[in-house]
Amino acid sequence: MNKIEHLGIAVSNIEESAKIYEKLLGSACYKMEEVESEGVKTAFYKIGESKIELLQATTDDSPIAKFIAKKGQGIHHIAFDVTDIYSEIERLKGEGFELINLTPKSGADNKIIAFLHPKSTDGILVELCQEKS
Ligand code: ZN
Repeated sequence: MNKIEHLGIAVSNIEESAKIYEKLLGSACYKMEEVESEGVKTAFYKIGESKIELLQATTDDSPIAKFIAKKGQGIHHIAFDVTDIYSEIERLKGEGFELINLTPKSGADNKIIAFLHPKSTDGILVELCQEKS
């Protein structure tokens, strides 16, 4: 794992939250993107080398809608940048972690991604992400 790539934050209204985060970080969102397959709308901010990803559900059965219904708005996942997501998935599987995605899928912000189940990481949803080449 190279670094924390971004923190994912689940929000109810991304336009309203975008205003708050622009004020908080003193910089504008550099990308808004809808990932239809995931039922989410995302907004990305840069803070030095790190990023914040705001996520809003676009469907009622989106994982973000379920998360907010259960826990309210807040930190949803931590994403780690990896060089080779395939070998990282194999390594973590070998260490006994439960992968939600054994095969990486396409995510927002030009990444291929895979999630680890929070029950194998003491409650935190972990995302692995690798820049698409
Ligand atoms: Zn993410």
